[in-house]
Amino acid sequence: MNERPNYDDQTKCPLCGRDNQCAVAAGRDPDSCWCMTATMDPSALTSIPQEAQGKVCICAQCASASPENG
Ligand SMILES: [Zn+2]
Repeated sequence: MNERPNYDDQTKCPLCGRDNQCAVAAGRDPDSCWCMTATMDPSALTSIPQEAQGKVCICAQCASASPENG
């Protein structure tokens, strides 16, 4: 049996499973979220699983291009 990530938890990054620090998921002002000022790496956005897209935010670490991620 394969373990599947739980995309129902909106506070967890669907890519790495860590806290995504999303202000919306935390019930705070969306304008205070880091994603409002961050530049998203397009390849990170496309690597979000289909079932998680538009549902769960990724974290700042996954959103920015990471050299060690290739
Ligand atoms: Zn992440």
